[in-house]
Amino acid sequence: MRDADLSDGLLAWYDRHARVMPWRIGPAERKAGLRPDPYRVWLSEIMLQQTTVAAVRAYFVRFTDLWPDVSALAGADDSAVLGEWAGLGYYARARNLLKCARVVVSDHGGRFPDTRDGLLGLPGVGPYTAAAVAAIAFDRPETVVDGNVERVVSRLRAVRTPLPAAKPELTALAAALTPRTRPGDHAQAMMDLGATVCTPRSPACGICPWRDPCAARARGIAGDLPRKSPKKPKPVRHGIAYLARRPDGAWLLETRPGSGLLGGMLGWPGAAWVEGTPDADPPLDADWQDAGEVRHTFTHFHLILSLRAAETCAAPSRGTWHAPPGFRASDLPTVMRKALDQANSRLPPLERTGPGAL
Ligand code: SF4
Repeated sequence: MRDADLSDGLLAWYDRHARVMPWRIGPAERKAGLRPDPYRVWLSEIMLQQTTVAAVRAYFVRFTDLWPDVSALAGADDSAVLGEWAGLGYYARARNLLKCARVVVSDHGGRFPDTRDGLLGLPGVGPYTAAAVAAIAFDRPETVVDGNVERVVSRLRAVRTPLPAAKPELTALAAALTPRTRPGDHAQAMMDLGATVCTPRSPACGICPWRDPCAARARGIAGDLPRKSPKKPKPVRHGIAYLARRPDGAWLLETRPGSGLLGGMLGWPGAAWVEGTPDADPPLDADWQDAGEVRHTFTHFHLILSLRAAETCAAPSRGTWHAPPGFRASDLPTVMRKALDQANSRLPPLERTGPGAL
């Protein structure tokens, strides 16, 4: 079957089965003349990096309620945006999101560049995101290859080379499938096919628009593809976090350095995260109690964070007190919130109830 026929078949399937997403203009809306809003496409693509559609939906709706266009986002307070991002992970994305919005407003008159190369000049926009935004928002014939697309193409063409070595081959095969007409819908159709039909463990070949031309299905090896080279085990790092609570319910927190992991986010005073033994003086004199540990996995390492908790009125040598209702537990990145939950379960309940309790 010709590549053009494959794309036609996929688009016909997409017209009937496209997933509904809050940032997407579906096939019926497109036929009615609606066009995607580049701001919403860009925002969704940044949020979806390393993150599932299910996790992103609520964040996307909240962000676009608070900041409905790029000018509104560019004018937002950094702390408000980082706070709303808390829990979504990969916090460098939130910092770059703000930088990018401000560059679009200051250097591009509030309009996103409409080509892959133009988009690549924006902060936080790499080759994948530039191709996705160019294709989806501007209908440019760019090839968009995420994990779903790699899986579909490796099966369609029965590519046995393991990932990541197979990436260039899979990208070239995906490029050959990209049509000149409706390339944005084609890109989204490929992702939808991988997410809903050609799934990792049990592909539903019986309802797949590509069941006839699919080489892996014909050979009975669909479930074995794509092959993957064994991953190196992640190192384990250790840290210490000091969680000090005042009797009025305020917590001692500090803002992490602007660059690096969780940069610019609120966190607990403590030791640097190292593969050996961590060491840090407490931020104030108190009767520190061992509050156990929390575990969290980042992209490149596992973290075991040992917790010390205390209730105190002492003056701190670092950090500042944050009291509800201005401070919300949801402002914290996930690992810091896990530590808070655990410390709360170990410290005695606050004597008074009301806005001071988190
Ligand atoms: Fe995937 Fe099966 Fe479709 Fe092939 S036929 S692309 S393996 S779902």
